[in-house]
Amino acid sequence: MAGVLVFCELQDGTLKKGARECLSAAGSLASATGGEVSAFVAGSSAQAAAEQCGQYGVRRLFVAADNALDQYTTESYTAAMAEAVRQAAPSIVLIPGTSNGRDLAPRLAARLNVGVASDVTSLEWSDGRLVARRFVYSGKALATVAVTGSPAMATVRPNALPLSQPASGSAPEVVNISTSTDSTVKVVETKAPEAGEASLTESDIIVTGGRGLKEAANFSYIRDLAHAIGGAVGASRATVDAGWIDHQHQVGQTGRVVSPNLYIAAGVSGAIQHLAGMSSSKHIIAINKDPEAPIFRIADLGVVGDLFTILPALTDEVKKAKAHS
Ligand SMILES: Cc1cc2nc3c(=O)[nH]c(=O)nc-3n(C[C@H](O)[C@H](O)[C@H](O)COP(=O)(O)OP(=O)(O)OC[C@H]3O[C@@H](n4cnc5c(N)ncnc54)[C@H](O)[C@@H]3O)c2cc1C
Repeated sequence: MAGVLVFCELQDGTLKKGARECLSAAGSLASATGGEVSAFVAGSSAQAAAEQCGQYGVRRLFVAADNALDQYTTESYTAAMAEAVRQAAPSIVLIPGTSNGRDLAPRLAARLNVGVASDVTSLEWSDGRLVARRFVYSGKALATVAVTGSPAMATVRPNALPLSQPASGSAPEVVNISTSTDSTVKVVETKAPEAGEASLTESDIIVTGGRGLKEAANFSYIRDLAHAIGGAVGASRATVDAGWIDHQHQVGQTGRVVSPNLYIAAGVSGAIQHLAGMSSSKHIIAINKDPEAPIFRIADLGVVGDLFTILPALTDEVKKAKAHS
């Protein structure tokens, strides 16, 4: 066994960011194991991914092209991915920590009878083992774990690994696989995000609003800044529970775990359950009128003041800066 197999998801025919992040890390890991990078894609547009995969150094692409796999379901994807693992015989299987990836990984690990390190933020191959770092205790500590089974599996936290630029590379060998697409689960509806909404887990910038917004309509302050700066809209649980915004925007222990380059929190107190979802952000700006708010303990830049004054001023400055760039 050698090499790395990456589970890749597509959106509109292109590799999702999480897949590209895993592929960016896969090259050096694969070399360390003495093998090559392979990838798995599923669905009727899977063949279209070959060229992009080649640009990330993929040598073999396992394609389950059945259109029954256009929609993710746990059972059919587990069967297809297990077959790809059987044929690729990798040392390492990397799965992006997206909603689907986090659903797939434990079932696949059980099918293969191996362990899985979940939500990891760094990876290395050391003495024949996959060694990974992951946050524990709601983001208060970092644990180093070694995965001893073979293949060693890990789900990777979105935005945690550096993304390489695609390079010119030859198209990979395509290996078609076919497995049962039977599933006891039927997808009855898929809700697309509102037009113009950036993806929370993939975005480099997130602007989050908390209960300090006072009411649902005031999320416009957050949206205005997010749209101006090119970021996604996040929310604390208090605002979601109040019905001000949909749960898909919630950041935290019972929402999304995010690691953007820039996280702006306005009117968010910084409860431990919120920090669990965003403390690995690279830069954190907090806006809160209470100088004692816990969010300031982890903020790189803290602004003590009224968000209803600061957010519009910041949005204006961003627009002005963009107009001059
Ligand atoms: C099991 C469990 C799971 C949970 N999971 C999550 C989770 O996933 N995500 C999550 O977020 N929470 C979660 N919570 C809830 C969490 O404990 C907090 O209740 C919640 O995060 C608080 O949200 P908030 O910061 O918006 O509101 P508050 O704590 O009420 O904070 C509002 C802040 O706004 C400030 N403010 C008010 N007015 C202004 C103004 N005009 N300008 C500037 N600042 C202002 C205040 O000073 C205050 O700090 C969970 C709780 C439990 C028990």
